[in-house]
Amino acid sequence: KRDANYVPLSPVTFLPRAAAVYAERTSLVCGRTVFTWRQTYDRCLRLSAALQALSVSRNDVVSVLAPNTPALYEMHFAVPMAGAVINAINTRLDAAGVAAILKHAAPKLLFVDYQYIRVAADALKSITAASLPLLVAIDDIEAPTGVRVGELEYEKLVARGDPARHPPRDVLDEWDAVALNYTSGTTSAPKGVVYSHRGAYLSTVGLLLQWGVRHEPVYLWSLPMFHCNGWTFTWGVAARGGANVCVRTPTADAMYSAIADHGVTHMCAAPVLFNVLLDAHREPLSRAVEVLTGGAPPPAALLERVERLGFHVTHAYGMTEATGPAMVCEWRERWDVLPAPERAALKARQGVSALSLAGADVKDLKTMVSVPRDGVTLGEIVLRGSSIMKGYLNNPEANEKAFKGGWFLTGDVGVVHPDGYVEIKGRSKDVIISGGENISSVDVESALYGHPAVQEVAVVAMPHPHWGETPCAFVALKKEFESGAGEVSEEELLAFCRSKMAHFMVPRKVVFVEELPKNATGKVQKLALRERARGLSPR
Ligand code: ADP
Repeated sequence: KRDANYVPLSPVTFLPRAAAVYAERTSLVCGRTVFTWRQTYDRCLRLSAALQALSVSRNDVVSVLAPNTPALYEMHFAVPMAGAVINAINTRLDAAGVAAILKHAAPKLLFVDYQYIRVAADALKSITAASLPLLVAIDDIEAPTGVRVGELEYEKLVARGDPARHPPRDVLDEWDAVALNYTSGTTSAPKGVVYSHRGAYLSTVGLLLQWGVRHEPVYLWSLPMFHCNGWTFTWGVAARGGANVCVRTPTADAMYSAIADHGVTHMCAAPVLFNVLLDAHREPLSRAVEVLTGGAPPPAALLERVERLGFHVTHAYGMTEATGPAMVCEWRERWDVLPAPERAALKARQGVSALSLAGADVKDLKTMVSVPRDGVTLGEIVLRGSSIMKGYLNNPEANEKAFKGGWFLTGDVGVVHPDGYVEIKGRSKDVIISGGENISSVDVESALYGHPAVQEVAVVAMPHPHWGETPCAFVALKKEFESGAGEVSEEELLAFCRSKMAHFMVPRKVVFVEELPKNATGKVQKLALRERARGLSPR
């Protein structure tokens, strides 16, 4: 039995608080549209009421296919305020990918932004009539296009919702579901990951603290909100009374203009976005912007280059199953005095446990004993605590395999350094075993990123008659090094590797490609590269 003063933890509580404390401050800017926290709260109350009037009940799934817009932001509060579960779908998926999610999640409603009508319509063709969701069209808020699906329209729902009749539903239990996010399926079919109110609350607060997000930040939405609910900042910006700056597509122009026009103080960016920022060749920023990066290993050489532009990077590691952040590379003052390349190398490590977790460790999976803090012994990164997902939706088999002794098994391989910081060495499937020696694909990639001609690189195993496997590097060169006087050869890159690493780690082959194959979240598809490498012969 609960005590009478028990109140479940929920990230939704940040919104009424923001409306009370920061009422007239800007909550969101998108083009010429500007809202205050009072208005955002009011719109969310109305949308939540409208959802309830459409008989959305507790634990129903409400899906949405939209870029970073006011509607997608508001739904992060309004949907759970109606007691339902928000499922923000990756907008880079094709119709088959969207259909797979709709079939599995079985949403009651599907909100579709006007830019994604075609993909939604194609996806819906494969859904049986009985399980079709109710459709709600989201039009451009400033310049309505009239393009739509279904009968319902977002702004009309907001206008007609009556919060006096349908006030927000209380969260009954903090372990109830708040969000459903699908993994990007880099290593297996996408799985539906269920977040609890408690986990989302703790992740949000913990990350704000570990990143040191100050009061009233100006937050640029360069990271899609559909990616683990924007690494929790959908809720986090409300918690700090910040301003959300939304852009439909994070091009270099859109990002640099937002930084200049709105005085952006914070943004999140996967390492791939650094190339977009660097390619634009801007002058260094007049005021530093705090950037949280993660989602893939950020090569130290790339960190050094973006920091020179005036972006101050914090590195975090995580996954869908951990409600986003699971480790943060907390910066130590004593590192300030080190030379830039050493600072970047320290920052490229994945770091220490997120505050929201009860533990992050690297263990030998057979014995579940922690590896020594020697920086070389490999083990699997495992996580434990409230911000780990409730579980996978309707997938008992995957749930069974995901945990061991209460620990979530990430499938990532890493080492622990003497200072307790964890460094990832690749996914367990990515480790290359050459003549019995483990080679970390991440180590070889980081070294190659240090070569001035390399734009992108991915290293995978290639079969070798003597060694079993050897590394094979797929490299995309920067445009100016592709041909002509500046041209860079396979031989030159191999010689560079020999000067940077032990001989057995040096790739036996370099394959030049225009661009690396990536999945819908921008992750390199190593499976496809491994298959290509299988057909090649080592030197
Ligand atoms: P999926 O597992 O379907 O690709 P996620 O987006 O949840 O979807 O990816 C999580 C994985 O991304 C992690 O298990 C890890 O391999 C990788 N990853 C995330 N952040 C980092 C990081 N900072 N450094 C290295 N790898 C990372």
